[in-house]
Amino acid sequence: IFLVSCNENNIIYVGTNAEFPPFEYFDKDKIVGFDIDLINEVGNILNKEIKVIHMDFDGLLPALQSKKVDMVIAGMTETEERKENVNFSNSYYEAKQVIIINEDNNYIKSFEDLENKNVGVVLGFTGDALMTEKDNSILKRFSNVYSAVLDLKNGKIEAIVLDSEPAKNIIKNNEGIKVVNTDSLKESYAIAFRKDDENLMLEINNALKKLGENGKYKELIDKYFN
Ligand code: GLN
Repeated sequence: IFLVSCNENNIIYVGTNAEFPPFEYFDKDKIVGFDIDLINEVGNILNKEIKVIHMDFDGLLPALQSKKVDMVIAGMTETEERKENVNFSNSYYEAKQVIIINEDNNYIKSFEDLENKNVGVVLGFTGDALMTEKDNSILKRFSNVYSAVLDLKNGKIEAIVLDSEPAKNIIKNNEGIKVVNTDSLKESYAIAFRKDDENLMLEINNALKKLGENGKYKELIDKYFN
């Protein structure tokens, strides 16, 4: 047998924003997490090398459009607005928005209680879109969730609206804050592709299906969420 070394065509460049644990985050200088394991399993099935590139969340879709990356996996919710510009794979995770508050806060119990409060969101996240639409809080937009948590602890904001799993992960690693569960709508995470790159999307959908069938997907869910 021949061992063929990887050429350009054998590499898939994947954009992410590694500030969203447990889906993607830095472990020292290495990017790890559920999405990263999942996309590497996909790479194994397709026999392609996966190169993950970190960037700001709101730079991900522009990087995809300008072909700096071939796809984006970033706990990204499939929204109508985003679908105007990109295609999404089959969904691989279901989430919703929750509220993070200080442990001693006993007056914020739902989204209604955020009215006229200083609320932190991360720029361009679905939490930002949700709260912007509600339009009844004083919104502060952060470039990442870690700086929002600092302001929450300092009392500069009273709450953060964030995706459910990262919220759980963040309160586990920070003392003095807690999660309020909400009845927000479900959101589906999916991988984003350029509209003209339908073949790649179909290949990835097939690979995702295989990972569902061979038990790998379940293994990763257990590893990160149970
Ligand atoms: N699910 C949220 C969104 O799509 C947050 C994603 C993220 O921070 N990586 O906007």
